[in-house]
Amino acid sequence: MTRPGGVWRNWARTESARPQRVEYPRTVAAVQRAVVAAAAQRLPIKAVGAGHSFSGIAVPPGVLLELTDLSGLVSVDVERSRVTLLAGTRLHRVPGLLARYGLAMENLGDIDQQSIAGAISTGTHGTGARFGGIAAQVVGATLVTATGDLLRVEDEENAELLPAVALGLGALGILVEVTLQCVPAFVLQAVERPEPLDGVLGELADRIAGDDHFEFYWFPHTERAMTKTNTRLPESAPRQPLSPVRRWVDETLVGGGVHDLACAAGTVLPTLVPPINRLSTRIWGDREFTDASDRVFATHRSVRFREMEYAVPIEHLRPAFDAVRAVIDERGWRIGWPIEVRVAAADDRWLSTAHGRHSGYIAVHRYWRQDPGEYFEAVEEIMLRLDGRPHWGKMHTLDAAALRSRYPRFDDFVALRDRLDPDRLFRNRYLERVLGG
Ligand SMILES: Cc1cc2nc3c(=O)[nH]c(=O)nc-3n(C[C@H](O)[C@H](O)[C@H](O)COP(=O)(O)OP(=O)(O)OC[C@H]3O[C@@H](n4cnc5c(N)ncnc54)[C@H](O)[C@@H]3O)c2cc1C
Repeated sequence: MTRPGGVWRNWARTESARPQRVEYPRTVAAVQRAVVAAAAQRLPIKAVGAGHSFSGIAVPPGVLLELTDLSGLVSVDVERSRVTLLAGTRLHRVPGLLARYGLAMENLGDIDQQSIAGAISTGTHGTGARFGGIAAQVVGATLVTATGDLLRVEDEENAELLPAVALGLGALGILVEVTLQCVPAFVLQAVERPEPLDGVLGELADRIAGDDHFEFYWFPHTERAMTKTNTRLPESAPRQPLSPVRRWVDETLVGGGVHDLACAAGTVLPTLVPPINRLSTRIWGDREFTDASDRVFATHRSVRFREMEYAVPIEHLRPAFDAVRAVIDERGWRIGWPIEVRVAAADDRWLSTAHGRHSGYIAVHRYWRQDPGEYFEAVEEIMLRLDGRPHWGKMHTLDAAALRSRYPRFDDFVALRDRLDPDRLFRNRYLERVLGG
């Protein structure tokens, strides 16, 4: 998102920077040249994806590498269902690239605008107790390191580095290729409906364990949860997709225009928030459809917002949710944006929010024109008490001292960074804060 005049801004408008130079490499060799040139000039260099991180993780203080042109399929290993993509490939392009091989990504988050490198570098995830985040699908990667050399990491080569490189916060080098373990293409049956919140909370453990992909949203000041349950079916299963008109009405008209108006109204007159939320639970999310997996996982988000998301051990999910609900009531805030609750399987990525533990995620949002300050602070306090780990791409205030004790492999990651980037060519202020200089 670099504009004429040279200002880079992220999607949420929480961060901006004026990079000294912007480069658009089309080849791996061009990325190597850019890194060598930046090192010679002692300028920090940073690749950005779609700029969809809410945190300062992608802020490019020196050279900005815009990888839009480093996009597409490099190779396919049909036998092992693995594909290698150029790092700048946007997720929404991936289904088209995989279609002729009958493959799909195993799981996705809520949107598909991100680049594959950005999504894995920040630990982007969806929901599903048996499924990891996108970085857990990575079985290989190629990095341009601070010396401009290529470092290939996969089963047969430097395998011990994979759990670090697959979720590297952009701190270890510039990813140029990413190899994903895919699955046979599949269809999802989606059931989205409003339900009484207490009932959903009462059945939470069973629904998380029993359904392939379960999540729910709760609009504060209401007693209703909007549940989303996606069931995996073979690709041959009959499809009943949403009509283009219904999709437009749900996602663009109601989820976009109407929601934007409601948020703006709630900003000017906070007393309107509870009735607007009650209305929202009536007009949002009551539908069933069956479609290709990527068309069900990903939705369109047009209203700008700010977000904080924490992962807690799965057994702390309910207490964490209850505590957030209680604090909203106690403080008398009017929160117009729903709280999102998701889950993921444990994985082995060193800096994954789900490292070594099944995890529950609680995400809180505020309309971008509202100050998230007190609300996010209070939620963060709750999450930290419950052993929470912040999403690297979303807003949080933790530094290296606070993060070290939350990740058993934190010091291993820092040591690898010291080895691969001793002069901190890939630095920015966010990385200084979270990794300690
Ligand atoms: C509307 C919206 C919905 C979202 N939904 C979800 C969701 O459902 N689940 C979830 O977990 N998150 C979600 N996010 C967060 C988002 O997925 C992450 O922040 C993700 O990193 C954004 O990808 P990006 O391509 O925009 O990366 P950027 O924000 O541009 O960059 C993120 C990091 O990746 C690094 N990076 C990018 N390319 C490279 C490269 N080639 N080599 C090395 N490092 C690189 C950057 O330097 C930076 O450190 C959402 C965000 C928005 C705005």
